[in-house]
Amino acid sequence: MQLAQLPPLSLYVHIPWCLKKCPYCDFNSHERKGELPEREYVDALVADLEARLPQVYGRRLNTVFFGGGTPSLFSPESFDRLLVAIRTRVPVDPDAEITLEANPGTFEAGKFRGFRAAGINRLSLGVQSFDDSRLAAIGRVHGADEARRALDMALATFPTVNADIMYALPEQALEGALADVEEAIRRGAPHVSAYHLTLEPDTHFHRFPPPLPAEDVAADMQEGIEARLAAAGYQHYETSAFALPGHRARHNLNYWTFGDYLGLGAGAHGKISFRDRIVREVRERKPQGYLRAAAEGKAVWESREVAESELPFEFMLNALRLVEGFPATLFTERTGLALAAVEPALARGEAAGLLARDHARIAPTEKGRRFLNDLLEIFLEAQPPERRRRVISICSAGTARP
Ligand code: SF4
Repeated sequence: MQLAQLPPLSLYVHIPWCLKKCPYCDFNSHERKGELPEREYVDALVADLEARLPQVYGRRLNTVFFGGGTPSLFSPESFDRLLVAIRTRVPVDPDAEITLEANPGTFEAGKFRGFRAAGINRLSLGVQSFDDSRLAAIGRVHGADEARRALDMALATFPTVNADIMYALPEQALEGALADVEEAIRRGAPHVSAYHLTLEPDTHFHRFPPPLPAEDVAADMQEGIEARLAAAGYQHYETSAFALPGHRARHNLNYWTFGDYLGLGAGAHGKISFRDRIVREVRERKPQGYLRAAAEGKAVWESREVAESELPFEFMLNALRLVEGFPATLFTERTGLALAAVEPALARGEAAGLLARDHARIAPTEKGRRFLNDLLEIFLEAQPPERRRRVISICSAGTARP
């Protein structure tokens, strides 16, 4: 493979602590016990970045995303220090989108203003629901009023805000799911991410499943949510993402268009392209282990070149999440492979009514969006069998989330 040009570069920074582990969460997040090693962790992130500088020499960051965990547990001073450290080591686009994930349970108005002053220009708030009993059912530490206050304050403080909403919650009725999205719209969130609650392996809910709505009710919720958001002028641009014009998540769009990202922090994944290869790396997952390893410049415990045979599926796993699909030329731009490499799979997707294309664009059909796994399966099958398990495990863990 040979890339004519390198893709845009983003930076993801993982902060792995939360007040309490939610019973459905399979992210690399750890319950806070006592004082957080905030200063040491920021030092470790900076050391981790320094060790990776040769990989991204001469490149510019277009977006930065502080995710977790609950990064808003850290102080505004820590983000200020981190952002200064990043800017002095890697050029950051003056117009870069800089996102912080926050939870209403860690909300303080003063802190939000401090985050903004540190340079954060987009807040992604884990609202999940505006119903106290549903929030309790999914083990969240915040209540509905806290979510309302935090969202209102975020909207008054940041140029753009995302509200995460979850649906198909335990014992949730259709009306409840729609009311949550309607409230996010009414309060003015310009971006909404609507996630179906799923029972992921190795979570408390997987071991002790709560009473969830029936599949057809969950499907009605999804349809109703999409309809409400569309009627309010939101563009549905990715499987779970809806935005008013001008408010799409640029950081996530870079993942979905198979851009590059440097990942810093415990368990963070990265994908970096060079002219002749694409490398994925994974960092030490446990916070204490990461602190030790990063201090020695050895935070990366796995780094491997993505095989050419894996690239088509990896690309499609991301790009086919986009409702409008992607320009046909993007496949070659990002993977260095000719589009002919996926021609049989594209033809199969088209014949199955899951994919539509013309000379300029390739996009999932509405059926393809509903049955995205079936569509992706076609590209997975196009790989050598020994690669299939490996690629699924790398990508499902490495695929970004808002
Ligand atoms: S707050 Fe978010 S990251 Fe933390 S445990 Fe809950 S779902 Fe996971």
